[in-house]
Amino acid sequence: MQKHTKFEPFTEVTPTSPIAADSHGGRAKCLQRLVRLELPVPATVALPFETVHNIAKGHFPDTERLLGYFKEGTLLSVRPSSEDPDWGGPGAVLNIGMTDRRHLELSQTHGEDAAHSLYLRFIQAYAVHVARLDADDFDAMSPSAEGVKAALALFEEETEEQFPQDPARQLTQVMRSMARAWEGTTARLLRQARGAPADAGLGLVVQEMALGVGPGESGSGVIRFIDQATGEARINGRYRRQSLNRDALRKSDEAMYLVKDPRGASLQEEAPEAFKRLNRYADICRSRLREEMEIEFTIENGKLRVLDAVRTQRSTRATLKVAVSLAEEGIISRDDALLRLPPRALNELLHHQVDPAAKRDVIARGIAASPGGATGKLVFSGQAAQQCAARGEPCILVRRETTPEDIRGMHVAEGILTERGGMTSHAAVIARGLGLPCIVGASGLRLSVQRKTLQTADGRVFGEDDIISIDGSAGEAMAGAVPLLEPFFDDDFETFLGWAREAGDVGIRVNADSPEDARLALDFGAQGIGLCRTEHMFFEPERMAVMRGMIFAETEDDRSAALEQLLPMQREDFTALFEIMSGRPVCIRLFDPPLHEFLPSDREGMRQMAEALDLPLSDVIHRVDSLSEFNPMLGMRGVRLGVTMPQIYDMQARAIFEATVQASKAGDPVVPEIMIPLVSARREVELVKTRIDAVAAAVRNETQTEFTYRLGVMVETPRAALRAADIVQHSAFLSFGTNDLTQMTYGLSRDDADRFMGDYVRQGVYPEDPFHTLDVEGVGELLLLGAERARSQVPDVTLSVCGEHGGDPETIAFVRQAGFNYVSCSPYRVPVAQLAIAQLAI
Ligand code: PEP
Ligand code: MG
Repeated sequence: MQKHTKFEPFTEVTPTSPIAADSHGGRAKCLQRLVRLELPVPATVALPFETVHNIAKGHFPDTERLLGYFKEGTLLSVRPSSEDPDWGGPGAVLNIGMTDRRHLELSQTHGEDAAHSLYLRFIQAYAVHVARLDADDFDAMSPSAEGVKAALALFEEETEEQFPQDPARQLTQVMRSMARAWEGTTARLLRQARGAPADAGLGLVVQEMALGVGPGESGSGVIRFIDQATGEARINGRYRRQSLNRDALRKSDEAMYLVKDPRGASLQEEAPEAFKRLNRYADICRSRLREEMEIEFTIENGKLRVLDAVRTQRSTRATLKVAVSLAEEGIISRDDALLRLPPRALNELLHHQVDPAAKRDVIARGIAASPGGATGKLVFSGQAAQQCAARGEPCILVRRETTPEDIRGMHVAEGILTERGGMTSHAAVIARGLGLPCIVGASGLRLSVQRKTLQTADGRVFGEDDIISIDGSAGEAMAGAVPLLEPFFDDDFETFLGWAREAGDVGIRVNADSPEDARLALDFGAQGIGLCRTEHMFFEPERMAVMRGMIFAETEDDRSAALEQLLPMQREDFTALFEIMSGRPVCIRLFDPPLHEFLPSDREGMRQMAEALDLPLSDVIHRVDSLSEFNPMLGMRGVRLGVTMPQIYDMQARAIFEATVQASKAGDPVVPEIMIPLVSARREVELVKTRIDAVAAAVRNETQTEFTYRLGVMVETPRAALRAADIVQHSAFLSFGTNDLTQMTYGLSRDDADRFMGDYVRQGVYPEDPFHTLDVEGVGELLLLGAERARSQVPDVTLSVCGEHGGDPETIAFVRQAGFNYVSCSPYRVPVAQLAIAQLAI
């Protein structure tokens, strides 16, 4: 290729040579940094991507000139240097330059064993990587005079050529084989799977070998300064005498301890000077590269050389610990620390995780609805889950889909698996709220609740008491128990989140409907409650009966009687939330019960209901029948209930205000926020507002206490977004309920989405499940439009998102851009949201 600027086919790595990760690869760049830090790196020459690409096509650079950078007779290594180390690359080849002559010379200077070992290693590598001979044939040979002879003979026999005795030719051939390996189809597909672009280049690093074999203290090793699992300062790694490069890691049985150890010899004692210097280098890397590095080193007759240093691989927990330590020591800023962890990675610290090393016998796949890992006995009903838990046995609750009747079982189960449902179905929403691992829409399963069996797509049948595991982060259910890693939040986690909160510029509230949720949210630093789904307060069986009594009431009197029972319960609920949140905003959504979630679906459920309500079974069946809707998600929900049966919202408003008075007496003044769900017309808001105002006046009068409240609307129908300018006239705030808004914008039932979502995403119809990540093109457009229209009338109206998307980092970026005031999400997603917002704000 003709270039106007002078193209350098290779460059010696010096502190000032023009080397960059995007032209020479990450390893070359990193070595240059080490050279700049004056670490004892052997002479190194870097070949850029273009040179390597040319080599693959058969155009070689001037190898003699390249060799001119090294002392005559030096052995060399060639190692890959891709832009991102995670993209992989061909294996390193060591000891280039070993010939019969060098073999003889080294036998004299370094001893026969060392010379045999060096030569044999090279013959093996050359035979396998360059001549493409069978590795097994060469592996068997031992590093002895006979072994070397046999290897040379085998090479000649197989290739019908003499083993090359010219270092320049050896080097050329090694570079060619590595360049070609990179361009091969398998290698390309592999790295593309790891995120590399199709045209990712490979650089090569040619380096003088430091010989860890030979006289005096000679050996090689790898040293780390942190524990890779915890991030704590702890020296670990390996050193092995008379070894080259990473041999020490491969043959652990012969390795030496690094730090003084009663069990045997250690580098610290045997080569104290080298050990001290390695520690010093680690400090230098830490302060100047601002990273915990793992150092690959060789000791050559007592002389320490650093071959390479890379960022120490580590767990999320360790990444967080290191980031916090570096910031606390002033090496990096707090902002830098916050940028070192992707927000979703926090999930690994908040929930149990399936050990990444665990073997997985996957029996079903579904939607990864709530993160974390769990193992337990299979149970097929909420009741069985409770019995199991009472025996102290962990269980996984499997249901076709969950309903409020399952709530107790869900509370005690370790994890939840449903055959049906999508990202915002009952099971998913509740599981996320509880922080329980959950998979929904595992449609390959055949579930028989009657027989209590679960049949997988490959025909295996699992019954009650069989152990299964689920990975809610990956959406995989597995046979048997898998090892789990414990959740982990310590002081560092607290500190880190504290910094995130300080850096954030969008509010974060929590979707909470119980005192436990509220307390947890406060622990995580949520600023208030953004969505209290009041119907969730009635999922407990005793309360459910009262709720059902109200739903079933046919006369005004019956309804009033039921509401009278509900009032004190709600008053208590709200008082508790107000007290816990001590003056922070609490946004209470008036009832929005999709009726199917509150009515029994089978005969047994109806029988129990008849018993609880003291009604004949036939009455119950008849009433359930008359209340049944073809599409309950679009039926008598939300404000429609409030408009047609206004006493229900009256009761809730009264409970809220009485709780306001009570909680304000004891503590900080409360200004409750009341939110109307499923609005689609301004008149709905007017009707509800008029009645709520009247209730407020009555309670003020009765209690002789002043208080205010804020009334807001949930924008979760497309019409509400379109008519936002109109609807906002009566609203202090608008909160976008993106679950329903997504459902209605797509015309896609949130409970049935699983039926085709997998196919749709696989075939690229939708880039992602829109119930998971906001569809910015469609639903997002409605958000922007609604926000703009609302602000045109009430410029300072408070805007927020309280659908499940509120905890999703990409959605958060979108609404932040649109200037929303806060997001609200389930408690365990609060830390993720905090970090996402902080990173956007930095
Ligand atoms: C929504 O629809 O986005 C919402 C938050 O309400 P729910 O999920 O309770 O319908
Ligand atoms: Mg909704």
